[in-house]
Amino acid sequence: MRNRARLFSALGCSALVAMACGENPAGQRTETPDALVEAVRALGLRTDMIEDHGGFLLVEGDIYLPKAKLRASNQGRPAPGQPRYQYTTTNMVSSVKINQIKVDLSGLSSLPGWQSAAREAIAHWSGVTDANVTMVEGSPAEITVSTTCTSSSVAAYASFPAGGNPGSTIYVNTCFGYSTSDAQKVHNMVHEFGHTIGFRHSNYVQMGESAGTVGANHVYGTPTSGNATGSVMNGGTALNTWAGFAASDLTAVRARYPLPAPSGLSVIDYNGTPLISWNAANGATGYTVSLITFNTVNGNYQNHYFTTLGTTAGTSYLDSSNTYTGVYECNYDTGLNGETQGAWYEYAVQATYAKGTSPILNARIYAPIAQC
Ligand SMILES: [Zn+2]
Repeated sequence: MRNRARLFSALGCSALVAMACGENPAGQRTETPDALVEAVRALGLRTDMIEDHGGFLLVEGDIYLPKAKLRASNQGRPAPGQPRYQYTTTNMVSSVKINQIKVDLSGLSSLPGWQSAAREAIAHWSGVTDANVTMVEGSPAEITVSTTCTSSSVAAYASFPAGGNPGSTIYVNTCFGYSTSDAQKVHNMVHEFGHTIGFRHSNYVQMGESAGTVGANHVYGTPTSGNATGSVMNGGTALNTWAGFAASDLTAVRARYPLPAPSGLSVIDYNGTPLISWNAANGATGYTVSLITFNTVNGNYQNHYFTTLGTTAGTSYLDSSNTYTGVYECNYDTGLNGETQGAWYEYAVQATYAKGTSPILNARIYAPIAQC
């Protein structure tokens, strides 16, 4: 049997304030009904870090779970993820919403220091180059930031995305047991806004959390060594000062929310040269066309490289440097077990925006220009 003590709230061991453990045993010791604890467990979150706040639970220090939603989503528990590094929930903000998130900061008017920190935080997320996250103040808002008084070990907490929208709430705790500098407030606000767009704690494995039904999806390209310092999304960091995004934070947000690549690529023979066309990408100021060369030997990938051909503000590009041959792939009999080696070509089109470019590999089309 599980120790009943684990049903009680964390004794100050907030996800955000590891250093407070043992020093600041605040928090409400309200017993939480078993069904809700199992629902929290099914989500992959820590059941020994539950605080019961009546209508909602606060888990792992800063994850907000309304009881009504928990009751509706009590499911089995998948296997936990392996120790890796940068993770997102399965539900993410939709591509149409991610660049027009409205945030209502009026609920922080009584806390001007936190309000300006939140303002700075949305500017930090919106300022990431080569990513499509844009948050602006406005109403009606997708994210409402307001105040509450809860456990003295919690600086702030937030909810995860749902239904293509960002997590709808961030609360700043007016009863936090520590005074915080402006830079600490900014760190907390950047962290909480990170939760609202689907980023989990980077050190979630080290914190004893599991993937659960909210998911913990490793972001390709981020380190797998685990618990790297410097990520703004590490848990247990409420007293950290803002020091900018870590490289892996930037990799993660660029991978999950890239600037949109052009769609509908096509290539035709135009007087013996390839004419590449695409659909306009909303907000793009121009396009860069490159040739990608993939090299394989015996069918095995060896390497690839890009050759930039040119840029245009329009939606087509005539590649006068190559001949439209109608041949997609060259095959050479190597004489070794009848295997072949080949080389083939693809065009890539990147959209350019004020904040950067779309990933080069996200819009590609084969072109029959191989000369064998
Ligand atoms: Zn957190």
